[in-house]
Amino acid sequence: MKKIITLLLILVTCFSLAQNQPTVLLQPDRVFDGVEMHEGWVVLVEGNLITGVGAKGSVRAPKDAQVISMPGTTLLPGLIEGHSHLFLYPYNITDWDTQVLKESDAYRTVRATVHAKNTLMAGFTTVRDLGTEGAGYSDVALKRAINEGIVPGPRMIVAGRAIVSTGSYGPKGYDTDMTIMLGAEPADGNEVVRVVRDQIGKGADFIKVYADYRWGTKGEDQPSFTLEELKLINEVTRSSGRYLVCHAKSKEAMRRAILAGAETIEHGDFIDEEIAQLMKQHNVTFFPTVAAIDAINQYRGWKKGKEEEPAAVKNKKKSLTIAVNAGVTIGMGGDVGVFPHGENVYELELMAEYGGMKTIDLLKAVTTVNARALHLENEIGSIRNGMKADLMAVRGDPSKSISELRKVAFVMKDGVIYRQEK
Ligand SMILES: [Zn+2]
Repeated sequence: MKKIITLLLILVTCFSLAQNQPTVLLQPDRVFDGVEMHEGWVVLVEGNLITGVGAKGSVRAPKDAQVISMPGTTLLPGLIEGHSHLFLYPYNITDWDTQVLKESDAYRTVRATVHAKNTLMAGFTTVRDLGTEGAGYSDVALKRAINEGIVPGPRMIVAGRAIVSTGSYGPKGYDTDMTIMLGAEPADGNEVVRVVRDQIGKGADFIKVYADYRWGTKGEDQPSFTLEELKLINEVTRSSGRYLVCHAKSKEAMRRAILAGAETIEHGDFIDEEIAQLMKQHNVTFFPTVAAIDAINQYRGWKKGKEEEPAAVKNKKKSLTIAVNAGVTIGMGGDVGVFPHGENVYELELMAEYGGMKTIDLLKAVTTVNARALHLENEIGSIRNGMKADLMAVRGDPSKSISELRKVAFVMKDGVIYRQEK
């Protein structure tokens, strides 16, 4: 109860602050600017912008600036989640089919508002949401409500319904006499042109396509769209100033997605040396979604650390390691929703565990790399003059251990403080 009251107080404070944002000078122990760590730096925020960054004494704050002393903390750019599903929640509570088929869009939206708040309070001030999975364009509505200050949540970059080829996607396995609503919108051949434009018209910030799915004869991942279809989707998407994002696990689907012009590859369970080089050549950012694999296999009964790793876990480790060693650009996106919203840091911990990624590279992935992948590198993801005041602070030094990102002490989005622990 006490926790709820505190939270309410925080929220009331945020919205009143939003009206007249004061100038604040933040004094942590150190600042990660999106590239490197700086001991003894301070950050000045005026309105919703960062207007001063540097060593204490070098940043001149106006006389009326409110000084917020944050001893023992590290200040970072507001973290960016690269692959979320705010309209889903863990499958060990309710399986995906049930969420898609039996829960109304209204019910799912109510839950999503809580997921959005939990995400923001964990220091993630932006999410790229990769599809509502059957909740239509509710993501567009949630984004609007957050932007209007009706509910607290991160900045949202949304996919809307996402696109699948006919026959490939779920829910599956029901009597074929029934028309089953799918988790995404089917389109094939030249029809993809209309569907891409329709999704854009309804609010998609980018186009998300399932370039493969587990519809092989043995349930394995097989390509869904032809290269020509993907090229057509990419052409129409690009001409609107948007970009293409592909779910792709199999080698052939990744190859087609990259050649068609997809900017990011999601999952990528079967990357080999050849695909890694192709990703580099085409400037593709890879989102490994390690946490989804780790969580799903545990939901299926895998006793992590006690039992042999399932094949899917082994594949993911191999794939991520090849990508890391080849120097592929790797973003942070956990497919959160499969595991609890607000636990986003889990993905970063597993990127180190599965792929041996260095802590400094993890910090870059969740800030500057993701900002670039979202085409928002001039607004968010780094602490520089003129950037939006999206900031978070944690106790400790996350460059020593990435798990320190869980110790959230402060969250600011667009100059408004949402969390401030004494
Ligand atoms: Zn996903």
